[in-house]
Amino acid sequence: MTQVIQLESVAKRYDSSGTPALGPLTLSVAKGEALAVTGPSGSGKSTLLNLVAGLDKATEGTVSVAGRRLDGLSEHVLARFRREQIGMVFQFFNLLDDLTVSDNIQLPAQLAGTARRKTAERADELMEALGIRKHARAYPGRLSGGERQRVAVARALVNRPALLLADEPTGALDSASGQDVRELLVDLHRGGQTIVLVTHDPALAQACASRTIHLVDGHLALDSQAEAVR
Ligand code: ADP
Repeated sequence: MTQVIQLESVAKRYDSSGTPALGPLTLSVAKGEALAVTGPSGSGKSTLLNLVAGLDKATEGTVSVAGRRLDGLSEHVLARFRREQIGMVFQFFNLLDDLTVSDNIQLPAQLAGTARRKTAERADELMEALGIRKHARAYPGRLSGGERQRVAVARALVNRPALLLADEPTGALDSASGQDVRELLVDLHRGGQTIVLVTHDPALAQACASRTIHLVDGHLALDSQAEAVR
């Protein structure tokens, strides 16, 4: 089975004293899995996400994503790798308000050097699939929260990343919009997209994830896959 994420004895310390904020942790996520990461505030969820996204480096152990070890990559190579292989979605969308929906979606593809015509085609395809085609020329400020999150998901997928990381993607949404984004994540998982979803919300984890891990004080307190095997 192809592993999209492999963490080997990974630990992260923010200072040299005391126990690590995360780990040591060994964890694999297979292609097509939708993994929810849950746990109380301060349990290490963001730290884990940042390590997997290559936004921060592990103090110990190795992190591999899409078959590539992230430690040792230069910032430049890492930035390109992230752009091409990892799509990220955040609680507050992080869209650019002075670009249209279509241009927001195309931006990472343009940064990756994809030809203008191809990026436009890919954006059209995603807007169609995600039901936001009619907003192509609108600015994000005019959209509802749920629509904005759809735009953010389309932007995250524009380069066909091996991995979609979502950090509390429904955290800023009302319950109807949250439900809408929840259904979108379920559809993406059904379509084979590998997803890691950080959430406080057990209902979101339950609805969207094929597997849940629960962190407590930086340690794996529960892994639903291990439970299933046991
Ligand atoms: P969560 O996302 O589950 O709330 P975090 O990964 O943010 O947890 O935090 C895990 C632990 O690491 C916490 O004790 C937190 O205070 C600490 N921590 C997180 N980021 C930093 C940082 N940049 N510098 C120092 N400590 C940090």
